Amino acid sequence: MKGSLTGKVYLVGAGPGDPELLTVKARALLDRAGVVLHDDLVSAEIISLIPPQTEIVNVGKRSGLKKITQNEINERMIAFAKRGLQVVRLKSGDPAIFGRLAEETDALEAADILFEVVPGITAGIAAAASLRVSLTDRRSSSRVVIVSGHPSGENENQEKIDWKNLVTPESTLVIYMPGHDFSRLREEFLAAGLASGVPAVLVSQASTPRQQQYCTRVGEMHKLPPLPAPAILLIGRSLERAHRRSSAENLSLALDEADLVISAK
Ligand code: SAH
Repeated sequence: MKGSLTGKVYLVGAGPGDPELLTVKARALLDRAGVVLHDDLVSAEIISLIPPQTEIVNVGKRSGLKKITQNEINERMIAFAKRGLQVVRLKSGDPAIFGRLAEETDALEAADILFEVVPGITAGIAAAASLRVSLTDRRSSSRVVIVSGHPSGENENQEKIDWKNLVTPESTLVIYMPGHDFSRLREEFLAAGLASGVPAVLVSQASTPRQQQYCTRVGEMHKLPPLPAPAILLIGRSLERAHRRSSAENLSLALDEADLVISAK
């Protein structure tokens, strides 16, 4: 495969971080790639699975080539493919969710480069699984809204998110890039008509050993701690179960502490 005359670009989802959540196809493509161009958010555990002889380029804008622009990433991808390489463009989660996939496929098409998209497990789905909750529920939650917490997240022409059209009692909101200004989000949600008792769960570093989550309710969202990035915010009645479990866990923690006090006597 490596160095064949016709290069091809595989736009591959790496999942949320846990290497066991890579697809079999992603794993096989990493094994035979000529070069891997990856984003910052792809976990170190996954990068370490790439064979040592494979060229790896971190094209992440945060810790990789920092000032690299989207156009430069596109150009690099195209240049490697033109050299006949099998290029894996590795993105965290699923490449089609807030991953600038459309810009990359437009550039590949314009350059007449063959490409394929390989899906991955997106952060919101992984976060729900880690909480052992269903995002839909026949009895209460009939739609899932995948949205960026920042207006500039995907639609650069949009200035404000129109929450009114998104928050219905039947919706589970999966908010990528929620930022840290939870007081503002709380105000916006309440103004959009979301009830203050609706569960809100912030999940940080879902699927990794460093995962942390914090369960609260919309009315209390200003008290959410700024958990380490990347973090995702899940909101909706479907999260009630996560809430119940977290209270049960807090309760058992309190009991454990009580035990300690007793045994220390
Ligand atoms: N394509 C990715 C999303 C990229 S946008 C996907 O499908 O998952 C980056 C945002 O994704 C982060 O700001 C955060 O909101 C979310 N994210 C990515 N990985 C995450 C993780 N392991 N845990 C929680 N949120 C994550």
